[in-house]
Amino acid sequence: MSGPEQPAAAPRHARAADAPAGDVLAASQESASQESASQESAGHVPAGHVPAAHAAGSQASGAGHALALDVGGTGIKAGLVTRDGRLIRTWRRATRIERGPQAVIDTIADFAAELVDEAAAEGTPVAAAGFALPGIINERTGVGVFSATVGWRDVPFRDLLGARLAVPVAIGHDVRAGGVAEARIGAGRGSARFVFLPLGTSIGGAIMIDGVPNLGPHGMGGEFGHIVVRPGGLPCGCGLHGCLAQYSSAGAVAARYAAAAGTANTGALDVAARLATGDPVARRIWDEAVDVLADALLTTAALLDPDRVVIGGGLAEAGDTLMRPLAEALAAKATYHALPELVTAELGDLAGCLGAGLLAWDLVPGSSVSAAPVSADLVPADPRPGDSAP
Ligand SMILES: [Zn+2]
Repeated sequence: MSGPEQPAAAPRHARAADAPAGDVLAASQESASQESASQESAGHVPAGHVPAAHAAGSQASGAGHALALDVGGTGIKAGLVTRDGRLIRTWRRATRIERGPQAVIDTIADFAAELVDEAAAEGTPVAAAGFALPGIINERTGVGVFSATVGWRDVPFRDLLGARLAVPVAIGHDVRAGGVAEARIGAGRGSARFVFLPLGTSIGGAIMIDGVPNLGPHGMGGEFGHIVVRPGGLPCGCGLHGCLAQYSSAGAVAARYAAAAGTANTGALDVAARLATGDPVARRIWDEAVDVLADALLTTAALLDPDRVVIGGGLAEAGDTLMRPLAEALAAKATYHALPELVTAELGDLAGCLGAGLLAWDLVPGSSVSAAPVSADLVPADPRPGDSAP
């Protein structure tokens, strides 16, 4: 049910809406003024008004928006997401993990409750709320099993937040929620099977089949960052050596350059910029990141046969500086493989927030944006028993 009113680029406009960490409830006006696609922001839409484009085709109640929160290690992004997957207002609050897990959990609940109250006061009550959370998440039970970043263990988020907010609550894993957003409204649209690969501080991943994350019976699937691509190579926090994340994450590229060049860590995009200056250290580290990633993608092609790989995270912001040599390296390594199309993600760092909103809408009957299944058309005779989502 994707309609023409869902420009793929719309969430990009809202990306600029992030206020500095700790700047509470301050970003919405900034969001409104950034670009024209964000017209439907607080400053332009009368309270209670639901634009016809959004209401069309919906059988849901009059509730206006889904509330979405994406909890990261430094900041919590929040937004209101329309039925058709547009982020119309955003806020940000610092996570402040140094306070300990319980304080972070309280902040998440308080932040969400404030926004639910505010939306109700403005006449656009929240229909459902979605939360994209880090770490190991059990999406079926809504429990945050473990987060190394924040330090929580076995937190029944869905029950806790459902009781506090009095609206349906969806709990998702941050990367998989991002995969859902890319599948429905981003770079994964129309794909039967793609891999969402955010190259950020580390490397997560989601295997998306007909728009649904396929995470396996243990809920542990998609950890592309810990594919061993250089046996005996760099040590990884997971206990192995030579993991993809130690070479091809934005964090690794930046840290490796800083260590090798003896400079401050100025980020992966700065390393990319140095390639044009002929910096040999930047060249070596960048080329290795690309080569290692191509090896990992060759393994991915062999195992999963995706039609597309959607590359996101900070490293993807290097654009052609990454994507062009990556495609060349992959093509050079391939033998019998049917290679996937390599594309950059479209939703940037708002993918998790948008995905949380879409998962929330899934709880409101008849109102969500679904990714149209396409694999049945491609493989009509094969029941593919392993594909069913858990
Ligand atoms: Zn590892």
